Amino acid sequence: MNRKKSGEFGWIAQIRERFASLVPAGAVGIGDDGAVIPLGGDRSTIVTTDMLVEDVHFVRAAISPRDLGHKSLAVNLSDLAAMGAEPAASFLSIGLPGDVDEAWKDSFLSGYQELSSKFNVPLLGGDTAAADKIVISVTALGTAPGERIKRRNGARPGDVVCVTGPLGDSAGGLLLQSQTPENEDEKRLIAAHHRPKPYVREGVWLGRQPAVHAMMDVSDGIASDLHHILEESGVAARIELDRLPISNALRRVAVAKGWDAGKLAVTGGEDYVLLLAVQPDAYDDLNQNYNSEFGTELFPVGEIVTGDPVIEWCRGGIVQEVEYRGFEHFFEK
Ligand code: ADP
Ligand code: MG
Repeated sequence: MNRKKSGEFGWIAQIRERFASLVPAGAVGIGDDGAVIPLGGDRSTIVTTDMLVEDVHFVRAAISPRDLGHKSLAVNLSDLAAMGAEPAASFLSIGLPGDVDEAWKDSFLSGYQELSSKFNVPLLGGDTAAADKIVISVTALGTAPGERIKRRNGARPGDVVCVTGPLGDSAGGLLLQSQTPENEDEKRLIAAHHRPKPYVREGVWLGRQPAVHAMMDVSDGIASDLHHILEESGVAARIELDRLPISNALRRVAVAKGWDAGKLAVTGGEDYVLLLAVQPDAYDDLNQNYNSEFGTELFPVGEIVTGDPVIEWCRGGIVQEVEYRGFEHFFEK
């Protein structure tokens, strides 16, 4: 097999190629955070699906069923937000082993329901089956007017690369999740991993801004995810390592544990913040308006430049000799 075509992303590329001719004009298929199905007129349906597999994405003993239910929906709402879409409905398919009891199932649903109610997203269907391990597959549907849909392919040289929140907290939480937290900082990191915040309202708001040229969510780590924007847009990026937003909680825990917080911020996944490319002359106004709306920043971390789709990691403008890689299921061997 062609080396480039193996690994998780190689496999997805193969599927995309095989089915490309069946994708109707105007629709967006594989390759973005969600698929876009035009409904005629101005509106489109956005569809996304994500799977959480026991012992791959979560450890049953480490995460409460309530958090797991919440997270199962959160990661899907995050993909809709990344497209600028308003969530409209979700579907829950779940495989359950015989040793999962009624209390677990009830708590799982409570967590799922809590987030459904928060954003008024009805659960409209799904499927249930027996399985050897817990397997959760959620599909979420959203809507957006065509011109508000944000893709990965719109980044242009000069654009400011921004993220909507801290990076690396979830990766820190993953490292800590099997121990009892020793302080509030550790609790925060574990919560970031078990109960990620989907940037739903922020995504819809950013969808309305023409200055946002490209957007996606950070699920595999910015090293991997920004790459997708670069590949789809045919551009390169320079990222300032010292500008990556790292929470004080992660900084303190990293010092205590001897971790490299910067590396966790770059390569750690599952922060579910939004990653976007913004027209440079519009950035200041956009950031100010975003701040008035949400009380926080669009953190600028670098810029889009011309070139092959690679990320230059810089400190003070000087390119560093580092190679970072985000998370990927079944890496090429
Ligand atoms: P995300 O992290 O945003 O959920 P993924 O990395 O999981 O995105 O997937 C990237 C793209 O590949 C998406 O468009 C997704 O729909 C598509 N994809 C992933 N796995 C498959 C598959 N088995 N069949 C078809 N499309 C897939
Ligand atoms: Mg995504």
